[in-house]
Amino acid sequence: MEKKFTPQGFGSAAVHAGHLQDPNYAHQTPIYASSTYVFDTAEQGMRRFAGEEEGYIYSRYGNPTIAEAERKITALETFGLDVQAKGILHASGMAAISTLLLSTLRAGDKILTHYSLYSGTDNVMRTILPHFGIEAITMDMQDLEKVEDVIQHDRHIKLLYLETPANPTIQIVDIEELTAIAKRYNLHVACDNTFATPYLQQPFRYGVDYIVHSTTKFLNGHGTAIGGILIGSDVERMKDHITKSHRILGGNGNPFDAFLLTQGIKTLELRMERHCSNAVKVADYLEKHPAVAKVNYEGLVSHPGYEVAKKQMRKPGAMLSFELKGGMEAGVDCMNRLQFCTRTVSLGTVDTLLCHPPSMTHFSVPKEQRERYGITDGLIRMNVGIENVEDILADLEQAIR
Ligand SMILES: *Cc1c(COP(=O)(O)O)cnc(C)c1O
Repeated sequence: MEKKFTPQGFGSAAVHAGHLQDPNYAHQTPIYASSTYVFDTAEQGMRRFAGEEEGYIYSRYGNPTIAEAERKITALETFGLDVQAKGILHASGMAAISTLLLSTLRAGDKILTHYSLYSGTDNVMRTILPHFGIEAITMDMQDLEKVEDVIQHDRHIKLLYLETPANPTIQIVDIEELTAIAKRYNLHVACDNTFATPYLQQPFRYGVDYIVHSTTKFLNGHGTAIGGILIGSDVERMKDHITKSHRILGGNGNPFDAFLLTQGIKTLELRMERHCSNAVKVADYLEKHPAVAKVNYEGLVSHPGYEVAKKQMRKPGAMLSFELKGGMEAGVDCMNRLQFCTRTVSLGTVDTLLCHPPSMTHFSVPKEQRERYGITDGLIRMNVGIENVEDILADLEQAIR
């Protein structure tokens, strides 16, 4: 039984949404570590397989701990909107993205996407999908006229794939305008909402069909588990075709990680508020720093996506990147000097994380190609944490020369 009270606030929904009373009255939904479920009779088994009776069958198909996380995230992505949706938890963000692409596209179809994407997504589109006859066209989606022109002249494009803010350049694309264009040509639209989270941005508000998340990041919030979710607003299609594809492809989440995720999401609003207010202060500090050539943060008026971000995001987020004037050497030097902030890839944790994409995540990408994507040798990406901002600023002050 779900609580009858409908919360008015996002933070209340983050705490309570998706929770059902446990049959044994445990306060927290237990970790259902069971691969399979028992049938009272053979007929009951038949009814469950036929979909005539609700109930669990096998944990790749569904699991009570996993289902709570699915309901909670879906409730937050649709919070305050007149939209129905269904979410399916996955083993990772990449598993969710893979289910989306493999279940909705077929040979001959094309994807249209922005050139600055999470590297794993970019890799699936460039190295895996072509084997199945699916091609991705990458372009600058900040240019809306050009987007419409490309779609108009290529009837094979079936999916518009957005990620905003984008990794690691923090570029912003206009979800509302791009979705409106896509809908004029009957394309489906998917949006990776990992960087923003549903607290800052709700792509369903603008009519996108699918949202994907790496729940590994801000939703979990503490860096304790890998996970992902695919949420679709066509509930019938989600229950039928997408669920069937997901079950066959086998990218299911697991109950331990789902439990950690559910606990983490409960503080999403509190964490994001602090992440964001800290990030604004860090961005201001960096923008004035003499050794810094450029700060990429959608909360700065100097950012080309400032206005669009203001329209579609509640607040500018927790992620920023900055370019040191001293290039590769300055980048590596700054990383080595850090005393308080954490040197690592990934993002979305309560502690401040810094990484140097040109020597780490994007080292294998040729320099000219990196630079075309805005990943210059002195670029540092930062996940601004929820610590006291004075400590973050003091560490940057001694690390940047
Ligand atoms: C991390 C990330 C992914 C991939 O998620 P995993 O959980 O690592 O598989 C996808 N998109 C974005 C924007 C990410 O940051």
